[in-house]
Amino acid sequence: MTSTHCPYCALQCGMNLTPAADGRGVEVSERADFPVNRGALCVKGRTAPAVLSSAVRLTSPLVRSAAGTLEPASWEEALDRIAEGLGGARAHHGADAVGVFGGGGLTNEKAYALGKFARVVLGTSQIDYNGRFCMSSAAAAGNLAFGLDRGLPFPLEDIPRTGCVILVGSNPAETMPPALRYFTELKENGGTLIVVDPRRTRTAEQADLHLAPRPGTDLALALGLLHLVVAEGRTDEEYIRERTTGWEDTRAAAMAHWPEYVERITGVPVPQLREAVRLFCAPEHAMVLTARGPEQQAKGTDTVSAWINLALATGRPGRPLSGYGCLTGQGNGQGGREHGQKADQLPGYRKLTDPAARAHVAEVWGVAPDSLPGPGRSAYELLDALGTDIRALLLMGSNPVVSAPRAAHIEERIRSLDFLAVCDVVLSETAELADVVLPVTQWAEETGTTTNLEGRVLLRRRAVTPPPDVRGDLEVLHELAARLGGEGSPEKRFPTDPEEVFEELRRASAGGPADYSGITYRRLAEENGVFWPCPAPVAPAESAEPAERAVAEVHPGTPRLFLDRFATGNGRARFVPVSHRAAAEEPDEEYPVLLTTGRVVAQYQSGAQTRRVDELNAAAPGPFVELHPRLAQRIGAAEGDPVAVVSRRGRAVAPARITTAIRADTVFMPFHWAGEGRANTLTNPALDPTSRMPEFKACAVRLEAVRP
Ligand code: SF4
Repeated sequence: MTSTHCPYCALQCGMNLTPAADGRGVEVSERADFPVNRGALCVKGRTAPAVLSSAVRLTSPLVRSAAGTLEPASWEEALDRIAEGLGGARAHHGADAVGVFGGGGLTNEKAYALGKFARVVLGTSQIDYNGRFCMSSAAAAGNLAFGLDRGLPFPLEDIPRTGCVILVGSNPAETMPPALRYFTELKENGGTLIVVDPRRTRTAEQADLHLAPRPGTDLALALGLLHLVVAEGRTDEEYIRERTTGWEDTRAAAMAHWPEYVERITGVPVPQLREAVRLFCAPEHAMVLTARGPEQQAKGTDTVSAWINLALATGRPGRPLSGYGCLTGQGNGQGGREHGQKADQLPGYRKLTDPAARAHVAEVWGVAPDSLPGPGRSAYELLDALGTDIRALLLMGSNPVVSAPRAAHIEERIRSLDFLAVCDVVLSETAELADVVLPVTQWAEETGTTTNLEGRVLLRRRAVTPPPDVRGDLEVLHELAARLGGEGSPEKRFPTDPEEVFEELRRASAGGPADYSGITYRRLAEENGVFWPCPAPVAPAESAEPAERAVAEVHPGTPRLFLDRFATGNGRARFVPVSHRAAAEEPDEEYPVLLTTGRVVAQYQSGAQTRRVDELNAAAPGPFVELHPRLAQRIGAAEGDPVAVVSRRGRAVAPARITTAIRADTVFMPFHWAGEGRANTLTNPALDPTSRMPEFKACAVRLEAVRP
């Protein structure tokens, strides 16, 4: 039996894997010793082994033939073709003509090696990853306010012990069901749950108070709540004075947002605003948690800042059982953004523009600091430049044909590339367009680390042998480095052993905000995960007492951040004054309805893996358009009828699902599917000016009943 973790979401549930009784694949069993999920798993985790033995998984490299079809090929031929494709683009058009696109599901080791490969071997600045579409606004706002971004600055176990949680734009009942128990326990302990969501989701049904704003107006909602906090004298003046800066400007901005004005913008009645303030301010401890709802907006950074301001004004962050946190989405969404596959960052969550960071990482990599390229484009901008500035792309662990906004346009851009190489487990919609597809190992077939939404670094262990002609992503990078040149031996620069890569990552991250230098595979195995920052021990002075020497040997990790000081220069949290502004695209006569997108429990992200699992397909066989009965009546659609949703970017068709659980001015579509029901055909790529997050959560559409 092997103790490991689920391949999917940021909860990274613990599970045990044992060889199946029939000798085919592995079976999942409960792993009660891992505290995050205590044995509970959702349907995706329980069925995850199905992808290991799926008949449709890739088991041989594929190379596009002269006839235009993808045909099986040897690894040598496939790797040579990739080296030729990437190297050719670099030789003819310059290093920045080669792009690299990663994923928030890649292990820390892979994310690290991919960032290093892009900058050291290819010499390109054009690298980013799909995590940009996930939590980048929360990361930007967290850095602004606290000087550090770690999804949750406290463990999940603190949630049931606080007094009140405002959960904004998050639906854990569908996205990470085992996490729901933290909120039900909160209520059992006498705490209150406030859910902010335009839909009455299964999570919202559990709430003491459900606020249902128009999509894209959460910023105004948070400002209205802060206005009431001030007006009712519920601010924590001592905390504001001692632990923050910038309050006066923020206070002034909030006071311009009268509750009645906020009601007109959001649709949330003033009495509900007052009730939310009363519930949030009454207990000694309280938290604000955000997820994709407020974050996936073209004003996502400001929106999250507004919620952080509310938490700061009431004296929550940096106090026990209180604060602000983001519920990250992808399996390694946290670690994936810390180790260098982000356009503007180096390992250890260092800034690529910081000369000291460049010097430190360059030394670990054995290159000159000035040889490292500067920051590149963000994910959408990179994808939008394919076929023009960027002529060749290496893509790992992502399926942008389904998951990118304005997806039909992005698909067109991908088709216009001179060369595309994809490493994946199955032939995703993006891999179908590639010149070369490499079949790579997946979660239970390889060892590596991930960092869950709490900042807890975890060890995923290899439990089964991969199919014979399948190789790991680290091996792919090693082979490509050997073919594409550069100084030093590929064996040393790009090892294939994940622990060896992690040892280098430790050195590269040492001293950075996300310091992993005190974490080892041995510790991860023995301690069931370690929270970063966890610096390596500093050699004690000769004169140190034995007790001091023992402490100096092992840092325990940091489950709770900011209790003494924030990670800003002066140790104080920063208020960031923000004001309401409209969504990038508001409804009008032609497009009178708002579309918002999200997930369902039985599918995961672009569905590349989960759509290949029979049990999940039976539970969630396809897309749908959720709409209110009044809207359905207006277009003459009955339950199950095909409905066309049309935006300025395209048209998608899916069956109607009629429910009073959604606002009458809003429709919802899950985004897991390709084809005519692809929700991201419709979404708006307007970008947040700071985080470069696209506006997934609100765009204007019209509905049409589809007549047979
Ligand atoms: Fe896996 Fe997330 Fe489900 Fe847990 S909640 S089993 S980590 S998909």
